Amino acid sequence: MKLLIGLLLLASCATKTITNSPEIPESTPPVVIEIKEDIFTPKTSLKNLIEATKIANCVIRNEHFKKALESTLTFDYSSENGKAVYKKMLSKKTTVTTYYKRYTSALAYTYLNGDEIYLNTKYTLREIASLVNTIIHEQTHAVGYTHGSNSPQGKGLSVPYRVGELAELNTKWCL
Ligand SMILES: [Zn+2]
Repeated sequence: MKLLIGLLLLASCATKTITNSPEIPESTPPVVIEIKEDIFTPKTSLKNLIEATKIANCVIRNEHFKKALESTLTFDYSSENGKAVYKKMLSKKTTVTTYYKRYTSALAYTYLNGDEIYLNTKYTLREIASLVNTIIHEQTHAVGYTHGSNSPQGKGLSVPYRVGELAELNTKWCL
């Protein structure tokens, strides 16, 4: 059974038409995270999301980010070290897609070991670095890392929160 990370799953998701975005060519090497545009994504958010996804792929391969992550020896909620986490993060291709939920503080959700990252467009008009943090956080869920309950309190040293933060700090190398 899949474990839902985050608070939300909209039943309407299954009926949305999803098409590949032409903005990022298939051949862009090597893409780990790819944007998928759905017809309900606001145009203003889409521009931000395409940019954030592009930057997230750059940050994943950035030497400063890699070094910071690989030199992290321990995390909460996982017995693996930074080297193992880094390797696993690059092992899976995911797609970024959107949903809209007004009355929630959840920025995003993904299924543990799932292939898709769902971002709430209520919160997608943010700084690119902050969006990269969220995308990378969700990417770690997609490769199997957790932080226990959905509350962010005291989760700073879990893989998703720590690696997301490292990605945000290293976004500057990719802008
Ligand atoms: Zn999370």
